[in-house]
Amino acid sequence: MQTWTTAAYLIAALLFVVSLAGLSRHETSRSGVVFGIAGMTIALVATAIVAFGSASGLGITLLLVALVIGAAIGLWRARVVEMTGMPELIALMHSFVGLAAVLVGWNGYLEVEGGAAEGGAGGEATELSGSLLGIHHAEVAIGVFIGAVTFTGSIIAYLKLSAKMKSAPLMLPGKNVLNLGALVVFAAFTVWFVITPQLWILAVLTVLALLLGVHLVASIGGGDMPVVVSMLNSYSGWAAAASGFLLGNDLLIITGALVGSSGAYLSYIMCKAMNRSFVSVIAGGFGATATSAAAVEGEHREVNAAGVAELLADARSVVITPGYGMAVAQAQYPVAELTRKLRDAGVEVRFGVHPVAGRLPGHMNVLLAEAQVPYDIVLEMDEINDDLASTDVVLVIGANDTVNPAASEDPGSPIAGMPVLTVWEAKDVIVFKRSMATGYAGVQNPLFFRDNTQMLFGDAKARVEDILAELGAHVRTG
Ligand code: NDP
Repeated sequence: MQTWTTAAYLIAALLFVVSLAGLSRHETSRSGVVFGIAGMTIALVATAIVAFGSASGLGITLLLVALVIGAAIGLWRARVVEMTGMPELIALMHSFVGLAAVLVGWNGYLEVEGGAAEGGAGGEATELSGSLLGIHHAEVAIGVFIGAVTFTGSIIAYLKLSAKMKSAPLMLPGKNVLNLGALVVFAAFTVWFVITPQLWILAVLTVLALLLGVHLVASIGGGDMPVVVSMLNSYSGWAAAASGFLLGNDLLIITGALVGSSGAYLSYIMCKAMNRSFVSVIAGGFGATATSAAAVEGEHREVNAAGVAELLADARSVVITPGYGMAVAQAQYPVAELTRKLRDAGVEVRFGVHPVAGRLPGHMNVLLAEAQVPYDIVLEMDEINDDLASTDVVLVIGANDTVNPAASEDPGSPIAGMPVLTVWEAKDVIVFKRSMATGYAGVQNPLFFRDNTQMLFGDAKARVEDILAELGAHVRTG
């Protein structure tokens, strides 16, 4: 049985590695998902067989009930979740991994201590002694700490992403000292716990980590949330790996390390894309100084669908920069149709995608692929920015923070330093949105008041459809 389980875990781990490789490219992402599902199915079946084999009657019933309830909730949520609600769902799932790590840690402690109290009769304490016991207690402390930080941090991320909590950063006085102090206390208490493993020390460590998780994420501003979400993803991986050590489960260790390291790498890529310091994120140092954006004043100009159709008909090059609003409006299908129509008429159409556009990494790429926009005209921010000055028309469809010039022009802005799509360099800019409201970071956008910008108000899908209807009258054919 042990050999079969090990073999199944090894195959599952390999499938996860192949899955990650597949997910790194558009063309192979579907097969990446299939490999991931296959790996998870094998892992789940092998774990269930081992668990059922070692459990008693009541244990088996509880396992079955947990499996059925978990699978039902998972299937239901995955079916009903909107694409725009994915980050919240992911944050909530990270919190479950964190909570599980805390419970596994506490269980690991109570099991060993319980065994010792019973004089070691049948308890693990008989197997763990001396330095091994010390390592076990260190694993408990570290696992509980990472799990608790992940748990509360992810809940705060969920509340912020679902707009149940304000996205503005919490600015407690001396916040960096608080974070650093918590880490020092954690290190000191972990050593103490390893030397004298007392319940109250573990309880203090748990409460400290729960509070640190809240503080780390609450003190991060809206614009920096994408990095936080991927960092929490990474933490949840390390929490799972820590549980794997405690449970002696190789698959959890491997899978946790894969999630932990790939999440850390994704955070690193995002930090680079957003011009943020990686070390500063790990330390929860985002928004370290209070910011105050310069007031934005001016008159904006409005345009209607017919006006935009006329502009597009005369254009030779068009760049579309989609954002969160395109996802909300589900405008990707008419946008793809508009792209086809313009390309058929000989207009060069390309997409410029900001690394944090939308609400999850790759959000825009997924939507555009879904609507069958060819991959080769979907460019990243760095690939398109140099061409924007020679572009006739930029259509900003539901994007806001990712095209905000304040990021480079206003050092007091909360998004200062974040690279953005320099759409204002184009000859004409059309902004599709419903109002003059701010984007996710809550920062006003001076782009809307530029001389070459016109606002096309309304739901992005309806407005693009209006343009499609108008375009027939204007566009050149052939
Ligand atoms: P923003 O969130 O900055 O702006 C989206 C705009 O879309 C809003 O201003 C809104 O204006 C408009 N909008 C909403 N619904 C519609 C609709 N139906 N039709 C037309 N317009 C609509 O989007 P960006 O993509 O530019 O920026 C993403 C932001 O989200 C960044 O701040 C990023 O840091 C953050 N973020 C990104 C994550 C990621 O992983 N990508 C994760 C978490 C946060 P109005 O209401 O007036 O219509």
